[in-house]
Amino acid sequence: MSMEAKNIKLQESGTWEWKDFMHQEIDFYTSGIEVLNNLNCGICVSSLEGDHILFANQEFCSCLNDDMNVKDELLIDLKDGESREVYLSRADRWFDIHRREIQWLDQEKAELYTIYDITENKRYQKRIERQANNDFLTGLYNRMRCEKDLEIQIDVSKRKGSEGALLYMDLDDFKHINDGLGHQYGDVLLKSISHSMQRINGIESNCYRMGGDEFIIIVTENKYEMLDKILQGIAEIFAKPWFLKGADYYCTMSMGIARFPADGDTVQDLIRKADLALLEAKKSGKNCYEFYTDSVKGVSSKRLDLEKNMRDATMNACDEFEVYYQPIVDVTKQGNPCMGAEALIRWNSEKLGFISPAEFIPLAEYLGLINPIGEHVLREACRQCRAWNESGHPHYKVNVNLSVVQLLRNDIIDQVQDALKETGINPANLTLEVTESLAINDMDRMKSILGQIRELGVRVALDDFGTGYSSLNHIREMPIDVIKIDRCFIEDLGQDEFADAFVKIVCELANVIGMRVCVEGVEHSRQYEILKNMQIHMIQGFYFDRPMSAEDFTKKYA
Ligand code: C2E
Ligand code: MG
Ligand code: MG
Repeated sequence: MSMEAKNIKLQESGTWEWKDFMHQEIDFYTSGIEVLNNLNCGICVSSLEGDHILFANQEFCSCLNDDMNVKDELLIDLKDGESREVYLSRADRWFDIHRREIQWLDQEKAELYTIYDITENKRYQKRIERQANNDFLTGLYNRMRCEKDLEIQIDVSKRKGSEGALLYMDLDDFKHINDGLGHQYGDVLLKSISHSMQRINGIESNCYRMGGDEFIIIVTENKYEMLDKILQGIAEIFAKPWFLKGADYYCTMSMGIARFPADGDTVQDLIRKADLALLEAKKSGKNCYEFYTDSVKGVSSKRLDLEKNMRDATMNACDEFEVYYQPIVDVTKQGNPCMGAEALIRWNSEKLGFISPAEFIPLAEYLGLINPIGEHVLREACRQCRAWNESGHPHYKVNVNLSVVQLLRNDIIDQVQDALKETGINPANLTLEVTESLAINDMDRMKSILGQIRELGVRVALDDFGTGYSSLNHIREMPIDVIKIDRCFIEDLGQDEFADAFVKIVCELANVIGMRVCVEGVEHSRQYEILKNMQIHMIQGFYFDRPMSAEDFTKKYA
């Protein structure tokens, strides 16, 4: 470079004094232009009077994509020293533009624009915002965004004196699909559901995933009159099966609805109330929705109590859960000797008192707590049975109920194997009772799990037979040893021809395919007399004895 640094004068205003070198030092001019052209900041000098461009560097031209017509869109009205971010739609880029008035050559008044392409920064910022506001799996907005939006919507409704609604949705028995088919299919289902929800007219972007299988929909005040239509749209989605892993699966949902601002005018209060209504919907048999009312409050807080206490009880080594035993007698032998017992759980809660399994098992399944509870029962029953076996009753057997939630766990076989090993029970003396509802469309999977259980030497009984889905045809393929006919058929014995015929046919059929039949719920001699003449092996019922503590059972039968 032939120019020396001292020849470049910086004016007080901060702009270069061009005049000196432009006329006198052509070399320096060329170098100066080169410097300006290599800046990654666009520079444009435009005359204030004539409104024409006096100078523009390469970066500026490329910002405009060499299309000078774009200039007017970009060089918007700015006062001296002002700057602004401008989005250029036709280029889909963001620019940070700064304007400053300067004196150009020959003291001509001019404006200097410096332009930075900030598109990448903007995109990065958006990505960060997206990550903060969106659910990674489904792309729906997340809980954080839901709370922000809800706060705004509550305000709008309060201001306008209008109404909106919060829909809190939870998938029914999603755990079964997730545990049964594997998480990847659970994810596919969540994505499909999210996708379908957004397409419902009136929901669009007001659908949020709160985590797990829980979603929230905000029905904004301007859509409130569509509430019925929206609920109908949601119901239609869940009325159809989802295609997963080569088969159709039905998945239903339960929903709690709270209205704002009537039911609550803060975000937390409203979400809590919709959640209470949701619990109510779950309780009334799932696959339905409930609106929040003040009466919901009382009932559901009891439910929350139950949940909290159940969590505490399972944390405390399941101490409050006691296993009772109801004898099962052998009707093929003289005098109907006791041949073992069914283990039936009892919850003696310190805080809530005695709670029957019919009341807490569905909630335990829903909360996933049935796994630790069920494992506790299994171990305890195996331990107890071995004790009886070693004290003079080597043939006593114990039946343990397995919930479908437990059965579909990937480690169920290991769990059973561990219990056998730890307690040392003879596997042939353990029978696991499963219910028919377990056939969640995946017969092959069920057959395989039950088959593996039997390979351990453990027997399998089909509980509550006749109330579920499986047909007589099905049981032939199922790897089971015992059919337990449900109590409802026994109740009607001798009074209802169908009940009589049903029990008789099941017994005959079971005999042909080499399965044993156990009848439960026998309360009266009338029932017993009718049953004696059928091909039944085992009977369980109040006629013989009620479920009792291990201590009482030992006293009486061992
Ligand atoms: P289940 O397995 O069908 O058990 C039989 C139920 O019928 C027991 O009710 C028993 O007390 C009752 N029962 C027996 N004989 C008679 C009778 O002659 N008359 C009448 N009215 N009832 C009779 P419980 O103990 O209340 O258990 C209810 C259900 O809770 C069980 O039905 C089972 O499905 C579930 N359950 C109990 N313990 C467990 C457990 O440890 N794990 C799992 N997953 N479920 C369990
Ligand atoms: Mg049972
Ligand atoms: Mg049963």
